Amino acid sequence: MACVSFPYDAPVSQTLFDRASLVTPGGVNSPVRAFRAVGGTPRFMVSGTGPYLTDADGREYVDLVCSWGPMILGHSHPEVIAAVQEAVARGTSFGTPGEGEVALAEEIVARVEPVEQVRLVSSGTEATMSAIRLARGFTGRAKVVKFAGCYHGHVDALLAAAGSGVVTFGLPDTPGVTGAQAGDTIVLPYNDLEAVRAAFAAQPGEIACVITEASPGNMGVVPPLDGFNAGLKELCAANGALYISDEVMTGFRTSKAGWFGVDGVRPDLMTFGKVMGGGFPAAAFGGRADVMAHLAPAGPVYQAGTLSGNPVATAAGLAQLRLLDDAAYAKVDAVSAEIRGLVSAALDKEGVAHTVQAASNMFSVFFTDGPVRDYEDAKRQEAFRFTPFFHSMLAQGVYLPPSAFESWFVSTAHDAQAVERIAAALPAAARAASEATA
Ligand code: PLP
Repeated sequence: MACVSFPYDAPVSQTLFDRASLVTPGGVNSPVRAFRAVGGTPRFMVSGTGPYLTDADGREYVDLVCSWGPMILGHSHPEVIAAVQEAVARGTSFGTPGEGEVALAEEIVARVEPVEQVRLVSSGTEATMSAIRLARGFTGRAKVVKFAGCYHGHVDALLAAAGSGVVTFGLPDTPGVTGAQAGDTIVLPYNDLEAVRAAFAAQPGEIACVITEASPGNMGVVPPLDGFNAGLKELCAANGALYISDEVMTGFRTSKAGWFGVDGVRPDLMTFGKVMGGGFPAAAFGGRADVMAHLAPAGPVYQAGTLSGNPVATAAGLAQLRLLDDAAYAKVDAVSAEIRGLVSAALDKEGVAHTVQAASNMFSVFFTDGPVRDYEDAKRQEAFRFTPFFHSMLAQGVYLPPSAFESWFVSTAHDAQAVERIAAALPAAARAASEATA
């Protein structure tokens, strides 16, 4: 990192970061935001409109993070904002049931066929934590299979070999997670059905569930190989375990019905977040009615939340989902394909080895010859090339995820003008990547 210079400054962001660092660990409320993987000053954003973010120094960026996925209609979509304003005017939280949460649940059930019943929560972490508890309660078994490089939020039992910030910082494990909490977690290589078969054979009757990202985006975008998800489903069914598809990232983003809408493999339980909250803290888990019936108060598995089904969050989520029709997905998919093509062409021109991998409109750029099929492949990339690439794009007004191990996200608001700005920034960034040294 020492060789990277930052030929531009962000004095207001720097002042805010200094203040934040005094009162908040690392100056941020979620680790990857701190820019530690790429160095430099994290940008404090003050507003967002369409495909653009504006930082505290008054600089505008084309946003290719989209709040890590949720903002699929772009920032400040007028219809989402109107729904939020209307909901806020009626009050912000009642701690009682309300019609908005029923309507959001109905929308999810209508879109995602395997979801017969759904419970709303406030974050993706809560959704996966609750789904795992339910799977254990339903099966009476303890063990959970997860895959290296898949991130399911900061659930204690699921932080083993997780992607996202955990891989960004190279943390093999997290202090604070006890042996007991992680001891029932079996971590297997992604896209390796033989490993799953062997785990079931070695521990008959002990595995409650297999949880997988429907199409992983937290070690960069690494789609499942043909037949992998279907194979997981079959192995789970044959061994009395539940198949949990984590669609927190892919849900309502990769199609109207998320990744299920792409591969059609029917999970027992699914988890959602991000897009379904319209930029507010709303998430969910759901699936087979006979399994969901085990949840309190219908059944014995406890799960609750003071702000679950919050009326403002559900209004935002519902407004966003109702705008996400086939035409919207076609638009996001098309702009994603266009940007992928531009990135690849710019890197080719500079002779930089790379692979761009996509899952519908989610995509990421690996600085390695492909394909990237699992976490080990992902870690082999020349991540040092990403740092100057990132800073060059940032300096030219394009905001990328500040890590080489994250998905890039676009929205329906990424129009020709935004794409043009990305295209104009790419040649210098590709050159910077080609000149990088480890
Ligand atoms: N599952 C997946 C696949 C995710 O990508 C994430 C977050 O990025 C989570 C779970 C956790 O969601 P949250 O950050 O809302 O807790």
